[in-house]
Amino acid sequence: MNSTPTCIACGASDWTIAGLEDRDGKPLRSVACEVCGLIRVDPLPDMGELRRFYEEEYRLQYKGIRQPRLKHVYRAGRLALDRLDTLRTHLPAGGRVLDVGAGGGEWLYVLEQSGYRPRGIELDAGYGGFAREVLGVDVTACPMWEASFSAGSFEVVTLFHVLEHLPEPLTALRQCREWLADGGRIIVEVPNIGSRHQHPRKRFHPAHLYGFSPATLRRVLGQAGFAIAFLETGAFDRNILAVGVKTDEPCAPSEPEPAGRYSESLWSYYASPATYWRFGRRMSGLLREALAVAGQRDARSLLDGLIAAHR
Ligand SMILES: [Zn+2]
Repeated sequence: MNSTPTCIACGASDWTIAGLEDRDGKPLRSVACEVCGLIRVDPLPDMGELRRFYEEEYRLQYKGIRQPRLKHVYRAGRLALDRLDTLRTHLPAGGRVLDVGAGGGEWLYVLEQSGYRPRGIELDAGYGGFAREVLGVDVTACPMWEASFSAGSFEVVTLFHVLEHLPEPLTALRQCREWLADGGRIIVEVPNIGSRHQHPRKRFHPAHLYGFSPATLRRVLGQAGFAIAFLETGAFDRNILAVGVKTDEPCAPSEPEPAGRYSESLWSYYASPATYWRFGRRMSGLLREALAVAGQRDARSLLDGLIAAHR
């Protein structure tokens, strides 16, 4: 365990405290880089600890495999179709796509039905098994550090809500870069730690080791050898979706963000109409989900129906 690691985004080694509790009020020390504003937990678990943790999880999973329910498949299927709409220009027709952290495989299924050649890796044995056996997509249930693909195997690598869970996101991005063909693209989505629409006491998720803003995500992608081709924060600023192109050119650093700017008051959170609008939207989403899933028997025909209705 290293008490003062250098920042993976900018190389500085001065950190300031950004938070002492997680979203559930439990102790969790988060620090911000004083130069670029990157957030991380302190201390970071090392790979050995993480490996032991996941190996233990694996054993537990084999005793009680859990798999996604139809409502989860519906939700993930709709999200996958939305992502395809947003990202289509960055996905070369018929391309080989690797999804790291494939979950139940809905994104891969949508890609396959749209003419791409997708593969996935998923840490969770239950979800990975579901993707393979129920949806019939090519998913290996293993941690990223055990996956071995030849260099240049893919035109695109996607990581949706994966990077923030990794103790070494820069190493992971460089690994993805190696798996990419020349000119290949990486697609990354992470929560936006700087979102103005986040409940101020719920900013620090206990399972997230890193917190990215648009500026720090740009920097980390640059450090890993990617030129930013696209970056946007989605609805209510909550997530950041970025596309990076594999490059050999050094990337110019983006503007730094001052540390410690994430301390909006509870008052401003509850005074914002967006807070209530979002709540209403979530409720109507749950209702729509319940109606869509009622009477459905299996995940594949549910997804086929969604894809057909989307065309
Ligand atoms: Zn930094």
